[in-house]
Amino acid sequence: MNPILMLDLESQQIRIREQLDQAIARVLDHRQFVMGPEIAELETALGRRMGAEAVACGSGTDALIVALLSLGLARGDSVIVPSFTFAATAEAVALCGGQIIFADIRADTFNIDPAQLESTILETMATGDRIVGIVSVDMFGQPAEQDAIRSVADQFGIWVVADAAQSFGAMWDGLPTGALADVTTTSFFPSKPLSCYGDGGAVFARDPALADVCRSVRNHGQSDERYDHVRLGLNGRMDTLQAAIVIEKLAIFDDELRVRRELAGRYDELLEGTVTTPTVLPAARPTWAQYAIKSVDRELLSKRLAEVGVATAVHYPRPLHFQAAFSGATQSPSGLTISEQVAGEVLSIPMHPYLSVDDQVRIASAIRDASVGA
Ligand SMILES: *Cc1c(COP(=O)(O)O)cnc(C)c1O
Repeated sequence: MNPILMLDLESQQIRIREQLDQAIARVLDHRQFVMGPEIAELETALGRRMGAEAVACGSGTDALIVALLSLGLARGDSVIVPSFTFAATAEAVALCGGQIIFADIRADTFNIDPAQLESTILETMATGDRIVGIVSVDMFGQPAEQDAIRSVADQFGIWVVADAAQSFGAMWDGLPTGALADVTTTSFFPSKPLSCYGDGGAVFARDPALADVCRSVRNHGQSDERYDHVRLGLNGRMDTLQAAIVIEKLAIFDDELRVRRELAGRYDELLEGTVTTPTVLPAARPTWAQYAIKSVDRELLSKRLAEVGVATAVHYPRPLHFQAAFSGATQSPSGLTISEQVAGEVLSIPMHPYLSVDDQVRIASAIRDASVGA
């Protein structure tokens, strides 16, 4: 039987190949490879969707670094980060000199648990830490609970950065994620729902003055004048070629999101009673970057699925507080047991807008067969 892959960038490319070829050719013709006209065009389109000013960046990681530096994160400041996330979320904080405080997640949404935030902040502040912000993550494309996170942040007068690397296009309570946190970041890495052909990302700032700072930080801290460096920054710019590609993919993005949501609904039905399917909070409209099930026999399940040609992936097998790179981080006094448990049970199954109904049925019956035999 033909293998079912996690991702199908080929079908998407076939669909818009002509538009992509033309868009790339336009960049080759105008030759403004750095900060060409496609950058401003993309930023306008992204910003309109997000309800905030967009600043295109070289990657989702660059976007996080630009966001944190623009908010003034400095050496010794402490920042709350969930332990169950991709390394970049915490890495960006540490690279900017921040002290990471790992917080735990909810077992059902895999997002930071707002109920534990206040006690985590109070207990770490009691040890003398100066907490300046929270970085939330929209795991697998489901927005974190921004209203609850906001109220804790307001209580302590700290900022919120939403790492929306997996959730561009998601909504919370009818609002795009970028309209909620102080700064939102996203990634256009090829496996994300909206992607380019290499590395790319964006920062979204609601405050226009902060957006100006982000633009400056993205470009070596320059002011509007060339070679006038008013602050430290980096080369965090997105390539014009990548922007041209995202513009073409944005044209079919709503249709792709609609299909992802249909697929998620069908998986929910097909897998009911077999494995733990994802929980979506009433206010959330996810992008379904991943469809992650939970199984206590994950290794066996993924092995059985591989045997019948169904690819799976584990996002992420080890929480960050178990990684050598983050051995200097502080752990929430409430513990990180949910992050540890979830990392041991999650399994992402194929989810992309070009997955057929037949493939979904085949995946679901393979999961059922494997679970029965487990
Ligand atoms: C992908 C991802 C990033 C990093 O994005 P890059 O574009 O690969 O740098 C950061 N955070 C999360 C949660 C991600 O999934």
